[in-house]
Amino acid sequence: MNATPTILWLRKDLRLDDHPALSWALERGGPVLPVFISDPRSEGAAADGDAARAWLHRSLKSLAGRLDALGGRLILRRGPSLETLLSLVRETGADAVAWNRRYEPDVIGRDSAVKKALLAAGVEVRSFNGSLLFAPNRVENKAGLPFRVFTPFWKHCLGQAVRPAIPYSLDRWPAHTGTVDSEPLDSLGLRPDVSWDAGLFRIWEPGEPAALARLDHFAGEIVSGYATNRDRPDLDGSSRLSPHLHWGEISPVRIFHRIRAADAGRGGEVFLSEIGWREFAHHLLFHFPDTIDQPLRPEFRSFPWETDAAVLRAWQRGQTGYPIVDAGMRQLWATGWMHNRVRMVVASFLVKHLLQPWQAGAAWFRDTLVDADLASNTLGWQWTAGCGADAAPYFRVFNPMLQGDRFDPEGAYVRKWVPELARLPSVWIQRPWEAPAAVLQEAGLELGHDYPAPLVDHAAARNRALAAYERIRQKG
Ligand code: FAD
Repeated sequence: MNATPTILWLRKDLRLDDHPALSWALERGGPVLPVFISDPRSEGAAADGDAARAWLHRSLKSLAGRLDALGGRLILRRGPSLETLLSLVRETGADAVAWNRRYEPDVIGRDSAVKKALLAAGVEVRSFNGSLLFAPNRVENKAGLPFRVFTPFWKHCLGQAVRPAIPYSLDRWPAHTGTVDSEPLDSLGLRPDVSWDAGLFRIWEPGEPAALARLDHFAGEIVSGYATNRDRPDLDGSSRLSPHLHWGEISPVRIFHRIRAADAGRGGEVFLSEIGWREFAHHLLFHFPDTIDQPLRPEFRSFPWETDAAVLRAWQRGQTGYPIVDAGMRQLWATGWMHNRVRMVVASFLVKHLLQPWQAGAAWFRDTLVDADLASNTLGWQWTAGCGADAAPYFRVFNPMLQGDRFDPEGAYVRKWVPELARLPSVWIQRPWEAPAAVLQEAGLELGHDYPAPLVDHAAARNRALAAYERIRQKG
């Protein structure tokens, strides 16, 4: 059995369960040194935004506590990654480094350089797929090309076996006995200077135990109704696993088998297809890395956006005068998360009603979502803007009032996040500007004073969006 230490380079896999790199290190034998290196500069567009970094702070704290309880110790360092790893190799005498791969373009570049340099220094390097059901470079269509349409992609994936979760038991951590310096968590600067994040963590609990508990709750109570309730922002109808998945506090393999075992019928299959959309997002980002800021469909490069900082700000602050849009944007600001149906509505509103570039919306989401993820965010915005793979056609403009009527029928979601509208009867809650003066007065609401009048007229904005689209269509 090997006795020299293995460095376990932790990144977006902050868990102990079903962890391929950890499993390899354990099997190899000898001490295992878990290390997290903060090195956002080397991650390019994949560097995390503020809300996700605040999550990371707490996730690392949770993981460090669990390792302590097992007799291990999480080493924290600040980058650059390669120099830090080489230094750790020198300090500990480690002769191997293992990690789970990331698939964002800049990170792939960095990791390849790290691998090459470590190998040149005589260190064994092993990397694994620990974040996806199917590694994106392993999935291709019959012509050997990447998929661009979700349904055949997911059908192809489901035709392959998902590996079982890796069985290993961890009663005691195989700890390194020598002294290794670790930086204090606070020195990584992950928490915001002004503690605007306190509200986020009244509702979220980062870390693997909470992720597994959430999966249990979802598999037991929610998944059977998922097919119908997932579109209702007023209900607890989805898993809320997205930030846990982003930080790898839970593995998609674990989720896949747990949901299959729950035998939840259509709810289970629809849910797994959403996990499939996450896979598809990584597949697209891997094969089309330019889509981070360029539309996949080239005709959209000349789209006549009407960039306007004040309009963007009204959207960001939830002050557009459209209740379902404002509710979503305020839910995002208060909780770092927004319901998927409402993400589609607010994104469509920004790019179509307000003609603001989708990249501006993606940047705001990146900074404010606790689950902000380069692959899923890029897919979500390109899909909504109509310029991505398998996207909603641009001419399908969501009507925010009808979306509200359909998916928030009693207006409970709007009432919660836009309390100034709370006393309006349901029939007017999605369209307060149409309410008779007496109804507004009864509800204690003066439009333009207590709540904004609509920033744009729906019908006029729709026509303007369609005209803009027609201009690029003719050119294309
Ligand atoms: P559930 O409905 O319970 O789904 C389970 C899991 O499947 C999610 O946790 C997520 O990992 C995955 N998933 C579900 N829907 C999608 C989807 N459309 N695309 C990719 N993966 C999906 N998701 C992110 O994780 N990070 C993002 O930055 C992000 N940005 C988005 C931006 C826009 C404009 C849109 C329309 C969607 C975006 N999504 C993003 C996808 C989706 O809204 C969230 O994953 C979902 O709302 C998370 O809630 P949940 O965990 O309860 O989802």
